[in-house]
Amino acid sequence: MIQYKAVTPAIVAELSQIVGDKYVCTDKDKMEDYSHDAVTGDKYVYYPEVVVVPKTAAEIAAIVRIANRETIPVIPRGAGTGYACAAVAFGGGIMVSTERLDQILEFDEANLLMVVEPGVRTSEVQKAAHGRGYLYAGEPSSGDSSFIGGNVATNAGGIKAVKYGTTRQQVLGLEIVTAEGEIVTLGGKVKKDATGYNLAQLIIGSEGTLGIITKVYIRVMPRPQKVMDLLAVFPSVDASIAIVAKIMQSGILPVSVEFMDNKGIRCCEEYLNEKLPHSETGNYIIVSIEGDSEEALEDQCIEIDELCSANGANFVLVADPVKIWKARKSFGEANRARSLIFSAEDIVVPVAAIADVVKKLAELGERYQLTIHCVAHAADGNVHADILKEDLPMEVWEQKLPLLQEEIYEFVYSIGGKLSGEHGIGYKRLELMEKFTNPVELKLMRAVKKALDPQGIMNPGKIFHIE
Ligand SMILES: Cc1cc2nc3c(=O)[nH]c(=O)nc-3n(C[C@H](O)[C@H](O)[C@H](O)COP(=O)(O)OP(=O)(O)OC[C@H]3O[C@@H](n4cnc5c(N)ncnc54)[C@H](O)[C@@H]3O)c2cc1C
Repeated sequence: MIQYKAVTPAIVAELSQIVGDKYVCTDKDKMEDYSHDAVTGDKYVYYPEVVVVPKTAAEIAAIVRIANRETIPVIPRGAGTGYACAAVAFGGGIMVSTERLDQILEFDEANLLMVVEPGVRTSEVQKAAHGRGYLYAGEPSSGDSSFIGGNVATNAGGIKAVKYGTTRQQVLGLEIVTAEGEIVTLGGKVKKDATGYNLAQLIIGSEGTLGIITKVYIRVMPRPQKVMDLLAVFPSVDASIAIVAKIMQSGILPVSVEFMDNKGIRCCEEYLNEKLPHSETGNYIIVSIEGDSEEALEDQCIEIDELCSANGANFVLVADPVKIWKARKSFGEANRARSLIFSAEDIVVPVAAIADVVKKLAELGERYQLTIHCVAHAADGNVHADILKEDLPMEVWEQKLPLLQEEIYEFVYSIGGKLSGEHGIGYKRLELMEKFTNPVELKLMRAVKKALDPQGIMNPGKIFHIE
């Protein structure tokens, strides 16, 4: 067991010297915002001993060197929108907020890339690309709040991953501060790179456990001129999920293929106080396609419409994009409004197995007498199942939830699925990770952790136990 040291007044004074008094906080009353992420419940609230808000990579490197010298945990922090209790100071330590590293440093049109600091909001990156006629394809539903550094550290997915992949596919390179306080660029502006191990890709999705990202080189591409959104309404979960493979086999490559179950639709409707189409009994498949030719898109729409109608859709409509995406993106908040405490599961399975998972969830929800609402990035096999506590007494919830999760993941792993498609493991899923991950795979992950962070100071207590 690593024995971590406490942050002493002398260390706080050293930190103040690096970033300035104004950017060091030890006052618990002012640290509430930094004590949790989007995971709800008292057991996911932990205060750091100190929050520092540096402006440069050099300042971060100096902070990490102190932490390394003293064996103090360092917790990198983005916008705190994570769904895994990963940017939380489990066990005290120094929280390094990246909110002041908020500059778009370069728009390199010739190389079709942007160089951005980690504290830039995802939507600001999208807007900057958009303004010049380009597309940044990363699009988590939290994009108005999340930071690009947080997206990289969690390998965020979102609604455009079907066509463009997750954040991983958008990143060409990273600058990081290592766990020993050195600054290094991994990858960069090159499109291809066979120069040894791809360490940038190893950092992506590592949830702050291997280093702190201080600069991101991201791809942009010419922005498609036209987008069309179709809403197909099906009477059953089975019929709606079955259409996904048919669309993907048709030769059309959609940007998004999203599923919403009926209970989830009605919960969003109630939250937004807005009538959604055919919400009484329908299950939704939302398909988004984009391109430059209106005619070609219309042809694709007709083909998708015919496919859906021939395969059991009751209605297929051209959707109002603002309304339909507002509804889809409100799913998490709508569930939170219904039940302040809920568990957001982020199951990923082979695409063809989604219907099995959604059916299993319905069966388990009934057996455990717990409400479960589902949406899915359907063509990615990624099911978000929000399990609501509602008015259940806390002790009953805490007893039932782990038993239910155990049954869910026994099933998920039996069909070749995994714990998380895009939200990550953090502290929230650590015990499930230990239980369900192949021991050899875990051993390799621990070896990587040991090699890159020999003192074990980077975001301890996340992903897996370190020895
Ligand atoms: C309403 C809502 C909708 C969401 N929708 C999606 C979605 O569609 N797709 C999706 O993938 N996720 C989604 N999420 C989850 C979350 O928004 C993402 O995981 C996001 O990428 C987190 O970014 P953040 O800046 O808030 O990071 P934080 O929550 O602050 O941190 C997340 C992790 O990244 C690490 N980290 C942050 N910055 C750095 C850095 N510079 N260097 C190293 N490590 C760092 C932290 O230590 C932590 O481990 C959603 C969340 C909410 C609340």
